[in-house]
Formats: sequence, C-alpha cells, structure tokens
Amino acid sequence: MTSKHEIVTHSAEETIARGREIAAALNPPALILLSGDLGAGKTTLAKGIAGGLGAADEDDVTSPTFTLVHKYDRGARVYHVDLYRIGDLHDLETLGLEDIFAERAVVIVEWPDRLSLRTDWPVVLIHLEHVDEDTRRLSVDDPAGILAPKITAP
Ligand code: ADP
Ligand code: MG
Repeated sequence: MTSKHEIVTHSAEETIARGREIAAALNPPALILLSGDLGAGKTTLAKGIAGGLGAADEDDVTSPTFTLVHKYDRGARVYHVDLYRIGDLHDLETLGLEDIFAERAVVIVEWPDRLSLRTDWPVVLIHLEHVDEDTRRLSVDDPAGILAPKITAP
C-alpha cells in the first residue's frame, strides 16, 4: 500500500474535519509537517488536529505566526509551531524545540523547510495547495504508516 494519498476539501470546515480524522488516527509522539503557501489552510488543518486530539477548542487554535510556538495541553499535548518568521530570530534555541522532542506530544509545524528538525519521531508530511477560493488539495505522505489504515482507506 502506498504511503501517499490525496484529500480534496471544499471548505475550511471540511479541512478541520479532515484534521480531526487525522488526529483520531494519531498515536503520540508524532511530528506533523504542514507545507504550502500562505492561505493554503495549514493553520485551519492544525485546528482540526489539535481539536481532535482534545488538546484545545478549535476556536482557540490560532496562528502562532508571531510567537512561533503555541502549546495546547488540555489532556493531550500539542505544540503548534509556525516558522514563517524564523528568519527574524537570531537564536533558534529560544524556541525550545529540543525540549519539546523529549515529550510525548504531537508537534505540528508550519513552514517546516525553514528549520531542520532532527528527531526519531514518526513524521507525517502534508502539503496543502490552494485550488480555488474554497477548494484545497492535501497531499498526505505517511512514510511510517502511522495513519494507516483509517486515513488511507479509500
Ligand atoms: P495558512 O496557515 O496555510 O496560511 P490558514 O489556514 O490560516 O492558511 O488560512 C486558510 C484560509 O482559507 C482561511 O481563511 C480559510 O477560511 C480559507 N479556506 C477556504 N477554503 C478552505 C479549505 N477548503 N480549507 C482550508 N481553508 C480554507
Ligand atoms: Mg498558518
């Protein structure tokens, strides 16, 4: 079975719902890398993942664009990281990412190409593309097979 599959959503609500499904298939620790342009829906998907894990209410999951890291730990523990502005920082260590990887958490990273993250955690890569105003394509690569079979089933 291939570790890659595509999901097309037609609203932000649908992307959140897909995030909840991904959360239901996740077993922490796990690293979720979300790539794609601004407005592609990365933060929207993160709402569903953090909400689905029970770590936060979806409405409380907002973009960590300026603080870079948000922590949600109502029950399950989720770190939501946005590296879009990482270039502004002189010291990457201020993020405390190394400490995060000592925990049994789910770490969601937007703009993951801005920082090399070394961890032996299983990784799920999701690339989001803007198709039209309300349509997004999510390309999910789950090389460790941690989402199978729930998410990869046809
Ligand atoms: P990113 O974090 O990738 O910059 P956001 O999730 O912050 O993107 O923003 C996505 C925007 O696109 C939101 O305003 C959302 O309401 C809108 N949107 C429209 N359709 C969708 C969809 N199918 N999936 C996700 N977001 C959508
Ligand atoms: Mg975002």
